[in-house]
Amino acid sequence: MNNTLYGGKTVEQWIDQHPLLNDMTAMREVSWFNPDTKPCAEAMAHISLGESDVRDAADRLERFRPYIALAFPETEQAGGLIESPLCRVPAMQKAMRPLLHTELPGTLLAKCDSQLPISGSIKARGGIYEVLQHAESLALEAGLLSLDDDYSRLANDECRSFFAKHSIAVGSTGNLGLSIGIMGASFGFQVSVHMSADARQWKKDLLRSKGVHVLEYESDYSLAVAQGRKQAESDPGCYFIDDENSVHLFLGYAVAARRLKKQLQDMHIIVDGDHPLFAYLPCGVGGGPGGVAFGLKLAFGDNVHCIFAEPTHSPCMLLGLFTGLHDQVSVQDFGMDNITAADGLAVGRPSGFVGKTMVHLLDGVYTVSDDNLHRLLALMEESQGIRLEPSALAGLPGMARVLNNSDYLERHGLVHTMESATHLAWCTGGSMVPEKEMNAYIAKGRELLNN
Ligand SMILES: *Cc1c(COP(=O)(O)O)cnc(C)c1O
Repeated sequence: MNNTLYGGKTVEQWIDQHPLLNDMTAMREVSWFNPDTKPCAEAMAHISLGESDVRDAADRLERFRPYIALAFPETEQAGGLIESPLCRVPAMQKAMRPLLHTELPGTLLAKCDSQLPISGSIKARGGIYEVLQHAESLALEAGLLSLDDDYSRLANDECRSFFAKHSIAVGSTGNLGLSIGIMGASFGFQVSVHMSADARQWKKDLLRSKGVHVLEYESDYSLAVAQGRKQAESDPGCYFIDDENSVHLFLGYAVAARRLKKQLQDMHIIVDGDHPLFAYLPCGVGGGPGGVAFGLKLAFGDNVHCIFAEPTHSPCMLLGLFTGLHDQVSVQDFGMDNITAADGLAVGRPSGFVGKTMVHLLDGVYTVSDDNLHRLLALMEESQGIRLEPSALAGLPGMARVLNNSDYLERHGLVHTMESATHLAWCTGGSMVPEKEMNAYIAKGRELLNN
C-alpha cells in the first residue's frame, strides 16, 4: 500500500475522485481533452520562447547543411537538409475504420519522420540539432569557425582533433542515443550513451560500431538520464544533453513546423478556420512532441489542434498534466509498470519544462494499447507499404478520438468543419529497425488483427 501523498492526496484518493485516473491506472485506453487550453496568443504570452528562437534554430540548421551533406552522403542530394516526406495515406484511413469503429471523414496525412536521414526517427531533429549547436558554439569560441564560413570545414583534421578533446553524454531509451551518438561521433566527439534496460540490442551494436561508449543499466529511462547527468557533473569537459529539460532539443524539434507549413502549401492543403489541422504526436518525455506542437502553434495559431499520444502503460505526460504535478509524479507512483513495446515512449516521468510549457497550449492527450499499436503497424504496412516502429503508430487513432468527442468539437466550434479537416499523424520512427525485427512486429500485428 502506497501512503505517500502526491499534491496532498494519496493515490487512492486521486483515483476515487477522478474516474479518468481509475481507467488510466487500470492501463485502459483513455482520451482527455484539456479544459485549460487558452487561445494561442494568450497561451504564448506565458512562454519565454518565441518565433525568433525557432528562426534562430532554423538558421543554424541552414548553416550546417554543407557539413551534413559532406559527412552524410545520403543527404547530399537534399543539400544536407534533414527532412522527411509528408504523405497522403487514404488506404490506411479506409483500413482503420473497422478497427476504430468510426467513419473517418476529412483527410489523413502521415508525416514520415521514420524516413528522416541519419537516424530514422524524430530524434534526428532535436538530438542532432543540439549536437550541432554545441559543436558550433565550441568552434566559434575556439576561433576555428566564423558564422559566415562554409561549415564543411568542420570536417578537417584540425577541427576533428579539437572536438576529440571534448565529450558528450546522454541518457536514452535508444533513439535519442542513436541520433546523438551518430552525429557526435561524426565530429569526433567522445560520446557516452547511458541506455535504459528496454533499449534494443541492435541500437547498442550500431552505436558501438561508430566508437560510441554505450553504458547499460537494468532500470528505466529516468535512471539512465540521471547517470548521464552524473557523468557530466564529474567532468567539466563533458556536455550533457538533458532530454528532460533541454531548450535546445525543444527548438530543434520546433523547426519541423515551419517546414511542414511549406509542405502543406505545396500539396495545396489549406489550414484556416474552416479547414482545421489536427496533429497527433507520440509522446515520451515530451521534448519531441512539445517542440513540434509549439512550432505548429506559432505557424498556425488557433487553427491547429495538438494532441499527444502515449502508451497505456506509460502515460507520464497525461498524468503530470492532469494532476498538475508534472515531473513530481511518475506512472510507477500510480502503480503502472512503464513496460511497453513502444521504445521511445517508455518514459515514466515527464519533462517538467515541457509539461509546464504546454499547460495552456496543448489540446489533449490519449493513450493506446501495445496491441493496437501492433495492429496499426500491420495495417499501415499492408495498406500503404509504410514500415514504422510501434511508437510511430500512436498518432493514428487520434482522428477517431477527436471525431468521437462531441463535447470537444462543440466547445471549439468544430462540428461543421470535420469534413474539411486535415488530420496529421506524426509517424516518428522506423526505417532503421532491422528487417528481422520489423517482420516480427508485422507478424504480431497481423495475428492480432486476425483474432
Ligand atoms: C523519442 C521518441 C518519441 C517521443 O519523443 P519525446 O521527446 O521522448 O517525447 C516518439 N517516437 C519515437 C519513435 C521516439 O523515438
